[in-house]
Amino acid sequence: MALTGVQIFKFLPKTNCKKCGFPTCLAFAMALAQGKISLEKCPDVSEEAKKTLGEASAPPIRTFALGAGDNAVKLGGETVLFRHDKKFFNPCALAINIKDSLGDDELVENATWVATSELNRVGQKLRVDAISVEYASNNSAQYEKAVKLVAEKAPDAAIILNCKDAVAAEAAVKAIAARKPLIYAATNENADAMANIAKTHGVPLCASAQGLEALSALTEKLQGLGVNDIVLDSGAKTAKEIIEHNTQIRRSALKKGFKPLGFPVLNCVIREDSILEATIASVAIAKYASIVILSSIEKWKNLVLFTLRQNIYTDPQVPMQVEQKIYNIGEPTAESPLMITTNFSLTYFIVSGEIENSKVPSRLAVMDSEGLSVLTAWAAGKFTAAKIAQFIKDSGIEGQIKHKELIIPGQVAILSGALEDKLEGWKITVGPREANAIPTFLKGRVA
Ligand code: SF4
Repeated sequence: MALTGVQIFKFLPKTNCKKCGFPTCLAFAMALAQGKISLEKCPDVSEEAKKTLGEASAPPIRTFALGAGDNAVKLGGETVLFRHDKKFFNPCALAINIKDSLGDDELVENATWVATSELNRVGQKLRVDAISVEYASNNSAQYEKAVKLVAEKAPDAAIILNCKDAVAAEAAVKAIAARKPLIYAATNENADAMANIAKTHGVPLCASAQGLEALSALTEKLQGLGVNDIVLDSGAKTAKEIIEHNTQIRRSALKKGFKPLGFPVLNCVIREDSILEATIASVAIAKYASIVILSSIEKWKNLVLFTLRQNIYTDPQVPMQVEQKIYNIGEPTAESPLMITTNFSLTYFIVSGEIENSKVPSRLAVMDSEGLSVLTAWAAGKFTAAKIAQFIKDSGIEGQIKHKELIIPGQVAILSGALEDKLEGWKITVGPREANAIPTFLKGRVA
């Protein structure tokens, strides 16, 4: 079981030297107990204490990277069962499975889809993170060639070697060792050979077994063989099994400190029916998967899964927000329209996107509403006539434009009278209720 901060404190040097970046050893101990920092940050901790604390202070779910370089995906490291308790930290990696038996053109085409899958949603770059290359040819040389080709055509993607043949897996690992591929998978039959490859080349290894009991036994064996970066595949296939297994794994790791299951989880959700596959993938993303392998990626599927993943891995206590300021959209002149909205990210990106669509250069005043959307901010007293007037006055925009007209969201039309009172000399125009009407509204003003 995890130690408390006070229990950890007893093992520290108690000199309050601050070398760890904390003002006192007790503060360091508290942070260590919460999994916010690692023991190595204290350079003076004794070997005996390291031994005692090492295991107890290790995070309940091991953290390591899938892939290498700037686009490596951090796996594991979660500390809560429910997002509202704190937050989930490391978004699950989405991977597409490609068979090595495909022709070169198809391999390149699939790899290129992954390489170009990135899209921008509310200011965050979202992408398919990994390619799983399946050993379907039963030909080690062909597998190595396919892995190399895919790795070359998708240079930023993590590579998963979906192969249970140790000879083929080792050749592929050697070919792209710098990419730190994940070997998928070690089983009861090949555990010794796969553990040896993972250890020799310093790459993570997925343990695959049917059911949690067999899986725990396998991870204990792999750890005994010196492999630490392990991913779990419990053999869960249906949505029901994924929910049950993933929940039991997370619960065992966090609540019982059960180390054999304290690792990130992989779910392979491949189905012929694309909609069913996306549905099961959604279940896996929502319920603790760290890697989800799909059979294909299509724009609609990416958008659905990216959005779900993004929503689950944002901090529920900190709304996504953008900086309060006046944004230029296009190249506005002194006569260009001035609109206002709140600083909830989604609101900002939708409204600014629709202004861009209008092709009418404009200014968008984005007011700090603590990340709330327009109606919620108004209801919470954070987007009131007095506050808007103050913001406009403080912004200095009056000196930059030749008109005094402010366009407010249609949803808060009720504020127009009070705003005209507070902003002397200004004309308040009520804009559309919905953002998708903005292009017509702005173009109509120009005509
Ligand atoms: Fe205490 Fe170690 Fe931090 Fe110094 S570096 S304050 S001894 S925990």
